[in-house]
Amino acid sequence: MFFFVLPRQHALTHCALFLLLCFTACSRESKTNAEGDASPELAAPPVNTAELWKEFNGSLAFTAVQNQIACGPRPAGSPALQQARELIIASLAASGWSTETQSFPAETPHGQIQMTNLLARFPTHKGQAPDLNAQKVVIASHYDTKKFTTISFVGANDGASSTGALLELARVLALDPALATQVELVFFDGEEAFQQFTETDGLYGSRHYAALLRESGRNTNFKYGILWDMIGDKDLTITLPLDSPKDLTQGVLSSAEALQSRQYFRIFDRPVLDDHVPLNQIARIPTLDIIDFDYTPWHTADDTLEQLNPASLQTIGAVTLHFLCQTLR
Ligand SMILES: [Zn+2]
Repeated sequence: MFFFVLPRQHALTHCALFLLLCFTACSRESKTNAEGDASPELAAPPVNTAELWKEFNGSLAFTAVQNQIACGPRPAGSPALQQARELIIASLAASGWSTETQSFPAETPHGQIQMTNLLARFPTHKGQAPDLNAQKVVIASHYDTKKFTTISFVGANDGASSTGALLELARVLALDPALATQVELVFFDGEEAFQQFTETDGLYGSRHYAALLRESGRNTNFKYGILWDMIGDKDLTITLPLDSPKDLTQGVLSSAEALQSRQYFRIFDRPVLDDHVPLNQIARIPTLDIIDFDYTPWHTADDTLEQLNPASLQTIGAVTLHFLCQTLR
């Protein structure tokens, strides 16, 4: 998302330590997914696939968010974003997902910048390439952060929250391969505008992805899309854009109701310009933006980890999973 700048200062954290923590977390995740015998003290509790949404762990999502933030500010084209990308790919691989890197040169007000979307799919047969005709739903987030020269902007909510949660969603979906194979997880680069949102500045990754999807004809395989953006605020208030697809809105609100989370959702008083727009308009996939735009630290140096709560990530993860189970089983 976008708008104006409030200059402040913020201290950077050390990326290397968090990289190490992430890989520890990744290897721990892969252990819980491993088949075969485990020693009694390591045995994981049985997986509740019937109510898969209960498997979404807000704390694991939060750790993945921390790992993204630890890379520092992550604008498109930066080495920090490359690091963040490597973390995403490693985490997806640990959960059994195969990732396509979709790179493209983007013409920006700061010149040409190489950008990379990440597209993750779950193989129908272990060890084989995913079937490109199996995906019926796209769940997406942007993983870049807005570029500032006056402040250190780490985008805890705006960039990291939805990215970390998407990695936890990948782990949970992998527990039910029949469901996972129907989902395409997409991490957009270049959501943020370099100057301000126009037809040609901002939404670089989603515009590119949507155009390729449309060109290939693969867009017609998809029933709907869900975009996550800024979903970690401790004071969670999801503001669904006014022009959201009606059936999709109703379905997600029903899932929220079923999980006693309806109070976190409301309909915003206006449309929102975000990565769901190219999906709706270019790829023609009805897509809902699950966004909390009622967020005071938005695009300030105060968009830090302290603003977030794992419980918010858990709420959105569970509601989305509930809706996926209702529509794909
Ligand atoms: Zn933003």
